[in-house]
Amino acid sequence: MSIAESTAAVLKNIENAAIAAGKDPKDIYLVVASKMNDAERVQEAIKAGVPICGENRVQEMLEKNSQGAYNGAKLHFIGHLQKNKVRQVVGLAELIHSVDSLPLISAINKEAEKKFIVQDILLEVNIGNEESKSGFSPEEIPGILSEICQFSAVRVRGLMAIPPVCRISRENRPYFERMKQLFVDNSEKKYDNVYMDFLSMGMSGDYQEAIACGANMVRVGSAIFGARIYK
Ligand SMILES: *Cc1c(COP(=O)(O)O)cnc(C)c1O
Repeated sequence: MSIAESTAAVLKNIENAAIAAGKDPKDIYLVVASKMNDAERVQEAIKAGVPICGENRVQEMLEKNSQGAYNGAKLHFIGHLQKNKVRQVVGLAELIHSVDSLPLISAINKEAEKKFIVQDILLEVNIGNEESKSGFSPEEIPGILSEICQFSAVRVRGLMAIPPVCRISRENRPYFERMKQLFVDNSEKKYDNVYMDFLSMGMSGDYQEAIACGANMVRVGSAIFGARIYK
């Protein structure tokens, strides 16, 4: 399949999953995870209807951005962000999905203030409680949300998770359901600078399951570009 064909197929699957979940397909956002795919291939996906690109390495994002890879789409940062790279990402990425510590929030806030902007972020949740993954524990989220009021150049727009790798997409359901519950619970109380708009979860193997469980932002890479070749 060409990139255009697989993009169309993913968009169609998202539409069907949205309708099955009783949602307007327009309210589900596709972020194409474009790591390791060059500017030309990213442009093919955008021309086929991809509205948002997500990158997870700062250097790669800067390089591809200078080549016009994201023209015609929005740009999100979805990878682990180190504090010393914050300067390069704030203001360039419209949304940073993977914010996993208070010091990182503080650094993003400082940089956004310097640039006279407000940076939208998601809080990453380590929903599988995995040693190897970063993110806040579910129990930490209310406390973090109540601290966001100190950071006037940061706006929390929701939550993001990368659940443990499961062999069958169905097995991810309990994690997705727990995330949805956490999202709902933390939407009830109003915090300053916090808007619970987006629940970012679901990748190539399980984005339809994620939508069924309440995701409204999915991050899909290999289902659009094919398997990544790691050299
Ligand atoms: C690569 C990546 C994805 C997409 O993975 P696929 O399985 O190729 O769809 C989603 N989220 C993040 C954070 C990624 O790094």
